[in-house]
Amino acid sequence: TNKNKRQMWVQFYTDEMKAASHREIELENELRLAIMNGEFELYFQPIIDLATDTIVKAEALIRWNHPEKGVINPDVFIPIAEKSELIITLGKWVISRACQVARQLCDLKHCIKISMNLSPSQVYDEDLYNYLCSCVTKYEVDPQKLEIEVTEGVLVESYTNTDLLLNKIRDYGLTVSVDDFGTGYSSLSYLKKLPIDYLKIDRSFVQDVATDDNDKAIVKAVIGMAHNLNLKVIAEGVETNEQLNFLVDNHCNSVQGYLFSKPVKLESFIDLLNDYTTTKE
Ligand code: C2E
Ligand code: MG
Ligand code: MG
Ligand code: MG
Repeated sequence: TNKNKRQMWVQFYTDEMKAASHREIELENELRLAIMNGEFELYFQPIIDLATDTIVKAEALIRWNHPEKGVINPDVFIPIAEKSELIITLGKWVISRACQVARQLCDLKHCIKISMNLSPSQVYDEDLYNYLCSCVTKYEVDPQKLEIEVTEGVLVESYTNTDLLLNKIRDYGLTVSVDDFGTGYSSLSYLKKLPIDYLKIDRSFVQDVATDDNDKAIVKAVIGMAHNLNLKVIAEGVETNEQLNFLVDNHCNSVQGYLFSKPVKLESFIDLLNDYTTTKE
């Protein structure tokens, strides 16, 4: 009967949920241990300035070197970390390591900017600004060689504090990017109020920009709007020359994507910087 079927379904569904939340708790515990054991690593992906054809920046992207499962991508564990205080600890490690790398690259005469992703709870963490400053001081980095990436949601919610924090961070010398632009909130009013330097057009708009008229229209409009607001535009997820040509023709400022390089370990990233400079000389 229908009633029995429903009961079975409810039973199945509850078991599934229990299993899922069990896996999450397991993962959370593993994450806690992994932080203590230092199993995380920052990978770096170049961001290329189209006006000068140089690598001007690198986005730091976290990876988990799991002793059994191998390299785990952030989409798997960042959402779990964000559900607890773990994201604060992990986020602090990212900031510290990014500053250390910025210093190291500058010593190697590759004084490029390092941009790091911040989770919403990090932005709301009262400790963030002081922690950031302490890392900058410790590694003697020029704050202008650092950038933070936040998503639109962060900029819309709890507006007053975000405004204060971003202003402090920017006064200190860092730049601010809006990550995954176009996928979050429909309200654009924050763009004229908040201290922002870059919009990063989400990969979902870039993917078909060479062939899809709607994506062409959206990307053109975003670039036009950004420039009128004195913001610069970075296109994420550039994989083909056709996409690149469209972005160049439409005055996009910089690009990031597999066409140039996947995110790579620091060692490989330094090789890449050396090659890029040598081929240009
Ligand atoms: P995101 O900040 O939007 O980073 C860009 C993502 O797009 C990266 O995925 C990058 O590997 C990927 N990507 C870049 N170019 C291409 C391309 O041409 N094609 C394709 N298919 N993908 C491309 P990744 O490294 O897996 O990171 C995923 C997300 O995890 C990031 O998205 C960011 O939201 C989050 N994340 C990464 N590292 C951190 C971190 O240190 N802290 C926090 N809070 N979040 C992080
Ligand atoms: Mg990002
Ligand atoms: Mg993004
Ligand atoms: Mg993204």
